[in-house]
Amino acid sequence: MENILQIQLKTLTPLWTGDIDRRSNEIQETAIVGSIRWWYESLVRGLGGFACDPTSNDSCIFDEEAYSQTNSLEAGLKDVCPVCRVFGCTGYSSKFRLLITDSQGNAKQTRLSRRGGEQFQLQFVFVRPLRAEELWLWQKTLTLIDKWGSIGGQTTKKPPKMPDFGLVKISSLPELPAGLDRNAVEAYLNQIITQSENIRNRLTQTPKEYPRLDHFFFKSGYWINQQQINDLLKIDPTGFLAGRRGISKKVFSFRERGAARIWGYTTDDAMLTVVLKKLNDLGVRGTKTGKEVLHGL
Ligand SMILES: [Zn+2]
Repeated sequence: MENILQIQLKTLTPLWTGDIDRRSNEIQETAIVGSIRWWYESLVRGLGGFACDPTSNDSCIFDEEAYSQTNSLEAGLKDVCPVCRVFGCTGYSSKFRLLITDSQGNAKQTRLSRRGGEQFQLQFVFVRPLRAEELWLWQKTLTLIDKWGSIGGQTTKKPPKMPDFGLVKISSLPELPAGLDRNAVEAYLNQIITQSENIRNRLTQTPKEYPRLDHFFFKSGYWINQQQINDLLKIDPTGFLAGRRGISKKVFSFRERGAARIWGYTTDDAMLTVVLKKLNDLGVRGTKTGKEVLHGL
């Protein structure tokens, strides 16, 4: 039986969903799922779990052989990270597909416009049910995007000097599963690590450039201008924060009234400390670390 999760979403800025002149619904849906997946990965890593980078050589592979020998899905999924278990990987399809419709639920003939201020609906059609832990992660991921982050721009090749895109308001978040807390979700993520030597090895080799929520920073109610962003990017001599051609910068600022925010991410606690100090020097007080936001979710 198909289970549909409907989410009402309003764009406060335009969304960036890839090549603007050749967009199709399919490209937009792929871009939105990709961005949700990016936050879900960051959250899983921030909770101590393992999440592969699906664009790397180290992406997960479903073990067809183990599956056919045992007829057990779990055997096939043994070396598959908790993110691929929801979003799919080689040999294992995603648990859901996304349909973008207008706010009434009608499939759109026209595509999302480049203007902000548009209301629409994301319909996630689940072809296999989420586990309670996955639903928890799903709900927290959407809450993060809504309250603290943005969608789209950080994973695609947005030309530099364009304003940051992807600020959205989600008006109908799914409910959290009852009787489940962060500890239970961490235990589930840990169990996937414990039962697979393959995953344990890949976890120790995770590059520190991979986004993980405890190395993020967030501030709502503030924004910084381009000059201030440039000043902030300069504090990192490795160039990670600034990005380069084809690789996004790691600091995002939105000045939209009522939804202003700054967010970004670093590679480690040392860089995070320097960023927080620099933001404070720029007049941005009380920036939260990803860990603080995570605990308050
Ligand atoms: Zn994976």
